[in-house]
Amino acid sequence: MTRTVVMKFGGTSVQDPEALGRLITIVDGVASAGARPVVVVSALGGITDLLLSLATLAIDGGDARPVLTSIRTRHEAMLPMLGTGGRRDAVEAAIVRAIDDLAALHGAIATLGEASPRSLDILAATGELLSSRIVAAAFEAAGVRSQWFDARTLVVTDAQFTAAVPRNDLTGERCQAALVPALGEGRLPVIGGFIGATSDGATTTLGRGGSDYSAAIVGAAIAADEIQIWTDVDGMLTADPRVIPDARVVPELSFDEASELAYFGAKVLHPSTILPAVSSGIPVRILNSRAPQRAGSRITQAAAGSVHGLTAIACKRGVTRIDIASTRMLMAHGFLQRVFEVFARHRTAVDVVTTSEVSVSVTIDDARAVDRITGDLSAFADVQVVTGRAIVCAVGDRMATDATLSARVIASLEGMPLEMISQGGSRRNVTLVVPDALVREAMQRLHARFFAATGAEAVPA
Ligand code: ADP
Ligand code: ASP
Ligand code: MG
Repeated sequence: MTRTVVMKFGGTSVQDPEALGRLITIVDGVASAGARPVVVVSALGGITDLLLSLATLAIDGGDARPVLTSIRTRHEAMLPMLGTGGRRDAVEAAIVRAIDDLAALHGAIATLGEASPRSLDILAATGELLSSRIVAAAFEAAGVRSQWFDARTLVVTDAQFTAAVPRNDLTGERCQAALVPALGEGRLPVIGGFIGATSDGATTTLGRGGSDYSAAIVGAAIAADEIQIWTDVDGMLTADPRVIPDARVVPELSFDEASELAYFGAKVLHPSTILPAVSSGIPVRILNSRAPQRAGSRITQAAAGSVHGLTAIACKRGVTRIDIASTRMLMAHGFLQRVFEVFARHRTAVDVVTTSEVSVSVTIDDARAVDRITGDLSAFADVQVVTGRAIVCAVGDRMATDATLSARVIASLEGMPLEMISQGGSRRNVTLVVPDALVREAMQRLHARFFAATGAEAVPA
């Protein structure tokens, strides 16, 4: 049977005409090998930031024109890839219309003096709507029969603007109904990632970096054989390469390992991406669009990243620690429940939790509601808020069978103030909280200890 492969290209993989040329060659290679690709694309690199900056400019009374010009120029630079004639003209007209709409939206936000999450989503969605049209037209110009889909007609979400959650049932039905016939007729579907719409048609986004998630949702909906995440690095690396420049590729890792790494800072994969892949057992590969011949990383149910050590480490910076001590100095029945109710009420996710008999410490990433949270907690606890923390997370399925691993992780950070230490029952990761100023050193020490160049894990070039 013909394999169906969902191929997602991130911002740097569609940032300019050269990148688009590489994308077309890569997709062509997969199709020539007999598979049926479905393409999911991000906005051109950097465009989402520019789009969202329009809201800030509007509120601060800034001039939108330079930003609008640069958004227009970036997209128009792609037009030569679309050949000549009606196809190119249609995309050019779509760019002009989008710029007009953005100018109007900027004006509306300036008048109101505030940007609702709903209007932020309309701004941000423009990036993927345009990039996907450009990519679909570029395939046609290259002689590939493609079909552009407005992702808002496929991905049905709830109404949590800027962080919408897809509804699997409706999304599945719509993707099946639209994509399967297109594939059957030999057409290449091209879809913008990151965006969706509520069932009554309001534009939503899945949160920053959400195109990976879109690829997984679409992949699960059409029971794809593989989901490929094409990006600007060689795969899931042993650490964030911006922190550890000599980080190496992890050739194989498990869904669970990837999920922990993504959640705790490995930006290469949106944390939610793994969920649809797991539920349908679809392997995910991370590949480099600048070096497509490299093997990349393969994420599956079974594989563990390392047979003898850690799989990778990750860090999440700029987190806030909250220490909560029961005023009755006892972990009375129901105390934890009351604590977590407060975080749930303020829709704030808790990342790391540690407890002692009389206190509980948690970290949060999104500190927007911290004053309201501490206000509510103070009704029954003493609360201390400490900003400027970082989470360091060491991940490896092998921890479950090698009891020395977590001890070695902690030992390699000897002398550092480890403010929180957490290991769950699954023993897949050790998660530590350190002052943000020490995170680089912590990562360097861990990486040197577990992934030094002389280490046993061979890495394909
Ligand atoms: P895309 O635009 O393709 O979605 P992203 O910028 O979202 O790309 O993610 C890729 C980036 O993730 C890499 O350039 C790298 O800097 C960063 N990154 C952080 N941690 C890791 C890791 N463990 N492995 C690979 N990349 C990582
Ligand atoms: N373009 C969106 C962002 O920059 C989504 C994505 O690239 O995954 O967050
Ligand atoms: Mg990304």
